[in-house]
Amino acid sequence: MPRPISVRIHPEAVRHNLQTAQRSATGARVWAVVKANAYGHGIERIYPALAGADGIALLDLDEAVRVRELGWTRPILLLEGIFDSADVATAVAHRLTVAVHCDDQLALLATSRAQQPIDIQLKMNSGMNRLGYRPDAFRAAWERARATPAIGKIALMTHFANADDAAIDSINSIDWQLDRFDAATQGIPGERSLANSAAVLWHPRAHRDWVRPGTILYGASPTGAARHIEGIGLRAAMTLASRIIGVQTLAPQETVGYGRTYEVEQPMRIGVVACGYADGYPRHAPTGTPIAVDGVRTRVIGRVSMDMLTVDLTPCPNAGIGSPVELWGEHVKVDEVAEASGTIGYELMCAVARRVPVEIGALAAEPHEAAESATA
Ligand SMILES: *Cc1c(COP(=O)(O)O)cnc(C)c1O
Repeated sequence: MPRPISVRIHPEAVRHNLQTAQRSATGARVWAVVKANAYGHGIERIYPALAGADGIALLDLDEAVRVRELGWTRPILLLEGIFDSADVATAVAHRLTVAVHCDDQLALLATSRAQQPIDIQLKMNSGMNRLGYRPDAFRAAWERARATPAIGKIALMTHFANADDAAIDSINSIDWQLDRFDAATQGIPGERSLANSAAVLWHPRAHRDWVRPGTILYGASPTGAARHIEGIGLRAAMTLASRIIGVQTLAPQETVGYGRTYEVEQPMRIGVVACGYADGYPRHAPTGTPIAVDGVRTRVIGRVSMDMLTVDLTPCPNAGIGSPVELWGEHVKVDEVAEASGTIGYELMCAVARRVPVEIGALAAEPHEAAESATA
């Protein structure tokens, strides 16, 4: 029997979350962002859930080709554009829309001799200072793109820098970038694509023609804080599940795990879970990080080791060897584990290790529903 750990992917949750994003940005078309292999969920696994999207956005050329081969006929956007001249032919052959963030990319596209022009999203650096033309250089870049025969439709894009508490606070978050974008693009025709997940949820002013939600499609919080998406109705698209494989009954003053960082105060039953940092669970998760055993929330205690971690069984006295454990999913949000560990849900979802077997689950259970996810 394999180690009792698995990651369950819930395509129906993605479908539901996509609809939630669409309701939040009514009137805008949606690029479903599936970079990093759909934030660790697997593009092929969640692909059926994307049927309602208007386009699919990602980074890698090979991922784009995979999406075409799955039968996707609507637009595909390469968020960082192309990297060398060989990419031009692939982009043409697969009808990819490419971001263009600098003159080098414009020059690459200009070499295309293909009949079919390439649609682009001209990217402005409105303050993030990663990729894009600065506002004062944007209009000239647009003129050059327009004069390039190999280029077809030109849309205008930018990306917002705030993904923390400020993402919800309009004044301090994206308005300054939006103002710069609007000023520098005034009078330039073309569709606009600005909003990431945070802007989809909290900034209608940024919705425009196309929005680009990523993390909310998977049920995670754009700010990294679970409380910020409470009540929005997003569902977890990933459950990291395992089982208890050992139980210890400890007396006061005994310690748990490497470094002896947790000392027992009262007699305590603890469970040993088959999941460690080599599975993608964060080693930095401290004592107190939430975890669910038998559907009951409890806490991690002691240090996370490579293949195991330990939990307090006090709130679930009937738990024993074989009891199911949810590391994150519907009972414990990935963002809660991330927050406790000093990171964000995005990173944890992307980092589940290859050695963890994947199952395709049914719809993640709603809070009041008894239905458990199917384990194929
Ligand atoms: C990753 C990415 C997104 C999606 O961001 P989320 O915060 O996950 O919604 C949107 N646009 C661009 C350019 C990106 O790189």
